[in-house]
Amino acid sequence: MGTSTLHIDLSALARNWRALDAKSAKTVETAAVVKADGYGIGAGKAARALAKAGAKTFFVAAAEEGVILREALGPSPRICVFGGHMSGDTDMIADMQLTPMLNSLDQITRHFEALPGHPFGVQLDTGMNRLGMEANEWDAVRDLVMTAEPMLIMSHLACADEPDHPMNAQQLAEFHKMTDGLNAPRALSATGGILLGPEYHFDLTRPGIGLYGGLPFEDAEPVVRVECPIIQIRDVAAGETVGYGNAWTADLPSRVATVSAGYADGITRHISGKAVLFDGDTPCPLLGRVSMDLITVDVTHLDHTPRSLDLLCAHQTVDDLADIGGTIGYEVLTSLGRRYNRRYRG
Ligand SMILES: *Cc1c(COP(=O)(O)O)cnc(C)c1O
Repeated sequence: MGTSTLHIDLSALARNWRALDAKSAKTVETAAVVKADGYGIGAGKAARALAKAGAKTFFVAAAEEGVILREALGPSPRICVFGGHMSGDTDMIADMQLTPMLNSLDQITRHFEALPGHPFGVQLDTGMNRLGMEANEWDAVRDLVMTAEPMLIMSHLACADEPDHPMNAQQLAEFHKMTDGLNAPRALSATGGILLGPEYHFDLTRPGIGLYGGLPFEDAEPVVRVECPIIQIRDVAAGETVGYGNAWTADLPSRVATVSAGYADGITRHISGKAVLFDGDTPCPLLGRVSMDLITVDVTHLDHTPRSLDLLCAHQTVDDLADIGGTIGYEVLTSLGRRYNRRYRG
């Protein structure tokens, strides 16, 4: 096998969903966010495993993702679109029975004119200033919109991964102000909000990253292992250099393994010279620069010749790698490219 393998543990994904589901009351529905191809692991496979675990509502970013998901899930589950009803989306929304979260007066007009009676939700802005209607817009259309019976009224927290951040309480208060007394289910929380406590749960929660093994859900089980095959091993004499820019120089005679994975596979160059790969439990330092298709690794200390090394595993989680590369677990996962051999189990 000449390319790296993503080992994807769908049972761990299902256990993470159940663990997050157990954090809110039985009356609260736990949905699942599978945008960006299921955070890189494959939206269809992920969603089918989550549906089997009990998820009945799924969220994607755009209608195009909803189409793919509907084909994978069949007719029953509810598929909601954060981006709402964009121009050109009408046929997809109608044919694939998608539920757009309407974000603006424009989208409300478009949806009501094009698909009267078709289910929809509403997204409100409670301070993040990214998606959703602001208080004054909502005031203007609220009564009209409520007569059309939205299936959900939602908003999104900007700082939920920081439990002590005052923005959380501020957005919670704003959400209450904009929605109290309305006769529709409400949703405010993604993974971070679920962990803030029950007053943030309302009627439905929308976890994403925690399902896939990422922070802020500390108890998440890892879902993805990245196994990189060793293509070649060579002995390097003291004073020789390895890789582009001669970025690493051997102080001592060394054994260097070249593995098949690189920045074209979404492995950021910012981990060059900093991350390690694992042979089982044994760390092996990454040498020099990550190149497009290849990474060089110090295996001098190993007493055998492994066939592959792990870049992501229980010893180096998506968040560990993100810290090393100056990014977040979300970006590590969603950057994993198309070239991997994806193996699912569970
Ligand atoms: C991505 C997203 C989620 C899921 O967030 P996580 O932090 O991955 O749990 C929920 N709601 C909205 C609006 C989102 O954009």
